[in-house]
Amino acid sequence: MDMTDCIFCKIVKGEIPSYKVYEDDETLAFLDISPNNPGHTLVIPKEHFENIYSLPGELFARMSLTAQKVSIALKNGLSTDGVTLSMNNEPAGGQLVFHSHIHVIPRMKDDFTVHYPHKTYGEGEAEEILEKIKAEI
Ligand code: AMP
Ligand code: ZN
Repeated sequence: MDMTDCIFCKIVKGEIPSYKVYEDDETLAFLDISPNNPGHTLVIPKEHFENIYSLPGELFARMSLTAQKVSIALKNGLSTDGVTLSMNNEPAGGQLVFHSHIHVIPRMKDDFTVHYPHKTYGEGEAEEILEKIKAEI
């Protein structure tokens, strides 16, 4: 997708409105328009990078710092019981907006349940998987 069509780039440029929570030179945090809970915030890099694969590591680190700052503000400001951070990457990973973002979702006790299905490793499978991953690190 052409990034001139990117909705989050438009938010960075002020071309469409957003509820800004925080910004610094490299990152911006704003309220998700369709929150899982009130205060649900998205943390983005100001520069367009599609996902975790193309993000420079230093910028991902800066996003993480902003996400931590937001988490603490949600806890103190909204008296939340917990916080869930997540990042969807690529369509199979649930990504709908292709400008990288970290979700910071305030949680309250017993609000809703999100558990991905758990699987089990077959005989020797964990070792095989481990080797494939370690070969790329
Ligand atoms: P994802 O599935 O991780 O790509 O999620 C994209 C998120 O962006 C969703 O939670 C949307 O509610 C949110 N979103 C989409 N458009 C806007 C917007 N204009 N302002 C704020 N949040 C938005
Ligand atoms: Zn963008």
